[in-house]
Amino acid sequence: MIDFNRPPFVGKELEYIKQAVDFGKLCGDGEFTRRCSNWMMEHFEAKHVLLTTSCTHALEMAAYLCQIQPGDEVIMPSYTFVSTADAFVLRGAKIVFVDIHPDTMNIDETKIEAAITDRTKVIVPVHYAGVACAMDEIMAIAKKYNLKVVEDAAQGVNAYYKGRALGTIGDFGCYSFHETKNYSMGEGGALVFQDDKYQEAAEILREKGTNRSKFFRGQIDKYTWVDYGSSYLPSDMNAAYLYAQLEAADKIDEKRSAIYRYYAEHLKPLADAGYIEQPVVPEYAKHNAHMYFLKVKDLKARTELIGYLRERGVWTVFHYIPLHSSAAGEKFGRFCGEDAYTTKESERLMRLPMFYNLDKKDVEYVVKCILEYPKFNK
Ligand SMILES: *Cc1c(COP(=O)(O)O)cnc(C)c1O
Repeated sequence: MIDFNRPPFVGKELEYIKQAVDFGKLCGDGEFTRRCSNWMMEHFEAKHVLLTTSCTHALEMAAYLCQIQPGDEVIMPSYTFVSTADAFVLRGAKIVFVDIHPDTMNIDETKIEAAITDRTKVIVPVHYAGVACAMDEIMAIAKKYNLKVVEDAAQGVNAYYKGRALGTIGDFGCYSFHETKNYSMGEGGALVFQDDKYQEAAEILREKGTNRSKFFRGQIDKYTWVDYGSSYLPSDMNAAYLYAQLEAADKIDEKRSAIYRYYAEHLKPLADAGYIEQPVVPEYAKHNAHMYFLKVKDLKARTELIGYLRERGVWTVFHYIPLHSSAAGEKFGRFCGEDAYTTKESERLMRLPMFYNLDKKDVEYVVKCILEYPKFNK
């Protein structure tokens, strides 16, 4: 059986976890947490990186720091994970969904302006599959209407837009280190921002509403409750696992890219013959091989192909059911404009096995099964 995903393991994780235990500080903001944030600040040219317990929590922090009030509106694609919306709904926001580009599955930036009202506060581009959204256009709209931009870069860690790391372009960027993502700590994430003005508020929010971060830096001699807050710090043991992965980022990237290229190259004949569509990466984007998806004719064709592959021992999966068609989506949001692609394209998309420890022979087997699919050989 070939799994769809397995958590990445590069080799040094257990050694670093043992070190974290030996350091005698298992709570948040220990040595490995510091190493992880420094690594990201350096590699992504990010000014501030705060490790969090998940990307969902990083998004919650961003929503709070954007000062979302009940009734404010937030624009995002409907084709995304629930957390993108949840984080803002938790603060009372109304979600306004706009359509996507059919090729990248990213938000269609040309549809954003029509969705703006005088209650709009934030635009949330989601970099699907680690392929950048059209950030210049999105940032220009945000500037024109004085809106904040929160990048959901859960899948976009170590991916780039015109040379800039995803997550560092908007006001806030949110990363995920869930076990399904390129670099992992089981559950985890990070909040990224460039503007120093957010630092103090972000630290307080992350540390239960206290100024404990300042205390640890020796800037004050006791810490106290200063504002609203929650607990968004991961344990240093989890950070130790992540640090092993970040150190091996190039190795992980190479491996995933090789799998991506193998799929792209060997499935191309099926695309040429009109049986499938392959993902498109715009000129401006350098992706991180987070995902390999293909699209078939429609929902029925997808169900059949997923079923056929399962019979042959290959787990492939579909992805998001558009949020606007879910019960919560109807309650908390509305779709602005026409749903020309969101529903239709989401029903055709399926994802192939893609993870660091996936064997080459398994990748070859997946491709062989797809090439042998009777319906693609008529
Ligand atoms: C994985 C993912 C999230 C949530 O990440 P967690 O770390 O599991 O909270 C949010 N948005 C997108 C687009 C994701 O892919």
